[in-house]
Amino acid sequence: MTARVLVVDDLAPNVKLLEARLSAEYFTVLTASSGPEALRVATENPPDIILLDVMMPGMDGFECCRRLKADARTRHIPVVMVTALSEVEDRVRGLEVGADDFLTKPVNDVALYARIRSLVRLKMLADEWRLRQATNQELYGVDGDTGDQKESVEGARALVIDENATHIDRIRRALATDRDAVEVATDPEAGLSMLAEQEFDLAIVSLLLRDTDGLRLCARIRGQAKTRGLPILVLIEQGDHERLARALDIGINDYLVHPIDRNELLARVRTQVSRRRYQDRLRASVEQSVAAAVTDGLTGLHNRRYLTRHLDALVADARKNTKPLALLMVDIDFFKNINDTYGHAAGDEVIRLVGNRLQQHVRSFDTVARWGGEEFVVVMPDASLDVATTVAERLRRKIAGAPARLDGADIDLPVTVSIGVTVFAGGEDTQAEMLRRADECLYAAKRSGRNKVVGAEPGTTPPAALAS
Ligand code: GH3
Ligand code: MG
Ligand code: MG
Repeated sequence: MTARVLVVDDLAPNVKLLEARLSAEYFTVLTASSGPEALRVATENPPDIILLDVMMPGMDGFECCRRLKADARTRHIPVVMVTALSEVEDRVRGLEVGADDFLTKPVNDVALYARIRSLVRLKMLADEWRLRQATNQELYGVDGDTGDQKESVEGARALVIDENATHIDRIRRALATDRDAVEVATDPEAGLSMLAEQEFDLAIVSLLLRDTDGLRLCARIRGQAKTRGLPILVLIEQGDHERLARALDIGINDYLVHPIDRNELLARVRTQVSRRRYQDRLRASVEQSVAAAVTDGLTGLHNRRYLTRHLDALVADARKNTKPLALLMVDIDFFKNINDTYGHAAGDEVIRLVGNRLQQHVRSFDTVARWGGEEFVVVMPDASLDVATTVAERLRRKIAGAPARLDGADIDLPVTVSIGVTVFAGGEDTQAEMLRRADECLYAAKRSGRNKVVGAEPGTTPPAALAS
């Protein structure tokens, strides 16, 4: 992963040092030597992450961070405050001004790269979120949320796998700030089954367990399908670089060293929870776009694109398994009159109402789709011509039986439909042929007076309409 990193420090040697180390890892490095310069670079040439020194003359790091987070152009860029270890109150202030994370001077490499990767991944998700919303807007005209407001990080569910009561207590108290629900497993196996059975937003795993290899535990969490993407934060002994490197290889997301600093813990947990929630939202957004692409906007029924695909599969299945398959073509009678007399909006309402009634009165495994205009197609697997014609007759009666009540106007409008019915002919019969025959029957129903159902066996001429 590569990213653009803005390093802000008033001391040139500090900047040079970080720049050299980051460049060696193929990050692109931008630099600034003061708060105002950082603000300028961040707006003109936005980086993916900002490493911000706290102690600077003039505008200090806190004020600079506050301004970055107050500006819509730079709000989404993660900020890591670089502080001295002793300055605990600095971390509190950092959180207050919206810092995303902390690094302690002197900055060690593993910590530096882990922090940057973690936050840059989160930012990339957020960027993709914004892009996707823009695409949805363009394709479907749906106004999704813009993703501009920060992901809520409160009320997360965390599982702590640790046996040390002092650690557990510290974690509980720190996460109480965000009203997170903290569950604890002192036994690793119990922890694994809790992860398998319940929903969590992250796991905090101690690598200091007495009788358990914590690394193996993390690997097992990663290995389960359900928890493959679960954020894992590990607790590790200060200076244990070897195990930390292996933990990062296994795919843990971040780490904390003992003794746990509550503000640092809070910042790390927030980053992971935020990332998790972005991912969930992105997935939901994809599902929603897919749904939008196959759904008719006016009626909420399947659209023609979906029906065509689905019908292909149904025809193939009926052919392969010599099963019956019926198709109904439904068309509202004298619909043009409704539009002309009551207006287009009233017409829309009638289309919606007819669609709803069709959907309500078919079986759950039948498909109702809006074919276009005031035409609908109903596909019924496993239905013979007799059954399908009976169903069509019932649909016709349900619609003719109760007038359409138009919301705006105080009128009850009689609405009727005509229906053509056909069935799969077996062999080389196709979707297009079925649609053509249903249409032919529909035309016969219209010709013989409308508010009628006409069904015909394939290969026969549509008879006169059923008595209606
Ligand atoms: P018939 O009984 O022979 O079916 O007559 P009809 O008037 O229903 O049939 P025709 O196909 O001539 O008219 C359909 C009209 O539906 C034409 C078109 O302007 C209108 N229409 C198509 N799509 C929509 C829509 O989404 N909303 C509304 N309100 N009208 C639509
Ligand atoms: Mg019509
Ligand atoms: Mg029509």
